[in-house]
Amino acid sequence: AVRQINSVNPATEEVIAQFTPHAPAAVDAAVERASLAARKWRTVPVPERAEHLKRAAALLRADRDRLAALITEEMGKPIAEAEAEVDKSAWCCEYYALQGPELLMHQPVATGATRSHVAFDPLGLVLAVMPWNYPLWQVFRFAPPALLAGNGAVLKHASNVPRCALAIADIWDRAGCPPGLFTTLLVGPDAVPDLIADPRIHAVTLTGSTEVGAAVAAMAAHHLKPQVLELGGSDPFIVLADADVPAAAAAAVSARMHNTGQSCISAKRFIVEETVVEEFTDAFAAGVAALAMGDPFRRDVTIGPLARSGLRSDLVDQVERSTAAGARVVTGGTVPDGPGYFYVPAVLDQVTPAMAVAAEETFGPVAAVVSAKDPAQAVDIANATEFGLGAALWTTDLERADRLIPGIEAGAVFVNGIVASDPRLPFGGIKRSGYGRELGAFGLRQFTNVKSVWIG
Ligand code: NDP
Repeated sequence: AVRQINSVNPATEEVIAQFTPHAPAAVDAAVERASLAARKWRTVPVPERAEHLKRAAALLRADRDRLAALITEEMGKPIAEAEAEVDKSAWCCEYYALQGPELLMHQPVATGATRSHVAFDPLGLVLAVMPWNYPLWQVFRFAPPALLAGNGAVLKHASNVPRCALAIADIWDRAGCPPGLFTTLLVGPDAVPDLIADPRIHAVTLTGSTEVGAAVAAMAAHHLKPQVLELGGSDPFIVLADADVPAAAAAAVSARMHNTGQSCISAKRFIVEETVVEEFTDAFAAGVAALAMGDPFRRDVTIGPLARSGLRSDLVDQVERSTAAGARVVTGGTVPDGPGYFYVPAVLDQVTPAMAVAAEETFGPVAAVVSAKDPAQAVDIANATEFGLGAALWTTDLERADRLIPGIEAGAVFVNGIVASDPRLPFGGIKRSGYGRELGAFGLRQFTNVKSVWIG
């Protein structure tokens, strides 16, 4: 039997909608349509493509309430965070509409030829395999630059956000792109190998777990398709003794608990110099304990359910293994009665780097506080992970920050701030957090053929 694609409200566990996955013939027809649209689109001048991005932004803003409600219904984030996600998706379209055309212009290079330059041609059709944690933003981080560069896109979204997936394709259709230029396929993971092998698909982008990323990377490598992988993270949040500790503790609450902790760039390991670890942990735990958990449609709620039940059982298991190894639960860490995949946000201290909550990615509202004896050891602990996505450093000594930054193994370092993606800055990781970059100029050129042109 074909596995249904279910939209389940994680706050109530009610099935909202069910979809039968597209059959192979429907997938083939959709890819063909997308492929034709992409061939047409690449001949559209870049400034005209930019107009379509502006229209997509306007549609997102006009539809903000409906789209935010869809996000909250399907994956459970607090409604204000869902609204912010729609806004950010629109911002990314606007950023690339305004800044992108210049970044795609020919770059003259003096070589001794009569004329020589670098051109940025589209690659063709990009397969996007995307996760549910930011069901709109994850896709809108990829699509505006990919489309502006002249590519088409085929989306295989996470199975628990099918209505968001359909709504995204609808936005691009209504923005006036050639029909099917952005196509959503309702398919399970089993459809991905054939899509990667399909000669009409030219590149792959995946955001998700490291395990799935490695499997998809191997398939794409086999077919020599370029790819971008945004995978898991276990971002360090380093607090030095000279930091503004109350400010760091307040920021730590959002850095860990935003999106109910389900973000690749959430701060997950709080590495604190031992002289301030108690002060930091007390303030941090008080902030976490004050969060309001409940119906994510309520405006006073800051912690929703986890998006899927398996995420909660994984967290329970990671916390149990860590406490068995000597970690202490300072606050939270319980599963409440009643429906919904809720988990009371937790802070654990006396964590050592080998414990599950530090060594593994925790994809939910669980914070691990690790004590370090000095700044050098804090950086060593920060780097003692298989991941390398983002890192935060809290210190009032900015000269010291400048000295420490080169030694931090991460795709982004934020000093005295919360790691966040920003359309203007490249985003991506090193180590087992993946490779390639999205956003900024680097993200725009990622799915281009960087073509050298030499005219004698
Ligand atoms: P997955 O990596 O399993 O899912 C991401 C996407 O990949 C989904 O569209 C999924 O489809 C698809 N997929 C799953 N298995 C395969 C496969 N074998 N071949 C091709 N595509 C596949 O993430 P989960 O949602 O299961 O979350 C598990 C963990 O992933 C989290 O605990 C977290 O560690 C990490 N994660 C990281 C994210 C990030 O932002 N970097 C985002 C989400 C998760 P389907 O939904 O149909 O299975």
